[in-house]
Amino acid sequence: IQQKKAYRPKNDEVVIAVRDVAKKYKVGKNTVDALRGVDLNVHRGEFVAITGSSGSGKSTLLHMLGGLDKVDSGGITVLGQDLAKLSDRRLSQFRNKTIGFVFQFFYLQPFLSLQTNIEVPAMFARTRRSERGSRSRQLAEEVGLQERLLHLPRELSGGQMQRAAIARAMQNAPQILLADEPTGNLDSKNAGAVFDIFRRVCDEQGTTVVVVTHDVSLAHRADRVVTMSDGAIVA
Ligand code: ADP
Repeated sequence: IQQKKAYRPKNDEVVIAVRDVAKKYKVGKNTVDALRGVDLNVHRGEFVAITGSSGSGKSTLLHMLGGLDKVDSGGITVLGQDLAKLSDRRLSQFRNKTIGFVFQFFYLQPFLSLQTNIEVPAMFARTRRSERGSRSRQLAEEVGLQERLLHLPRELSGGQMQRAAIARAMQNAPQILLADEPTGNLDSKNAGAVFDIFRRVCDEQGTTVVVVTHDVSLAHRADRVVTMSDGAIVA
């Protein structure tokens, strides 16, 4: 979605390394093993889909990759940075610069225009207003929302809201894009359009994309499908 240039997406550089990661949640008196010893390497420019039935640990793993939650044991290295070694403040800065997030429920700010929503990550990064503005217009065009920049989220369809959320995720030109069930609230046409954008971001800019989805047919548009079951990677 940034500059269009030819890019060789596949190479050997590991940008996300997950080593023997375990995570338990306490629910009342019970403990749930959400992740039990997960190992995973994601290479630069790779598009990986994580699938598996509900409760298999997909979202937990994705949240860990993005440093949104902490592991109990094992480790995660993103772009050479061991996430456990960062303070909360440094972790937020690292995330803001290097990772874009897309969620099932979009999380657009209801009282902000689409343009301002798309610019939010750039505000945290203290990007100049003029630069933010031209970037958000360019991104909106890339996802087909250039005519909607002054609209509020409630004036958009679900598919449009998710495309706006993707533009927002790309605002700081992250090297990694993480998406958690991004098509969970969309019909199949809009779901396909969202995966088309991920595919393009990956192919044209070499962005590394990791998407959690329970939709197996969409997952197969990725370069690699990782299947989880009961807190472990099984394929
Ligand atoms: P998936 O994304 O594959 O549906 P999750 O990663 O959301 O699976 O959940 C894995 C397991 O961990 C499930 O049993 C779920 O109920 C549990 N779990 C996830 N998040 C929490 C939480 N915050 N508190 C308690 N249990 C959780």
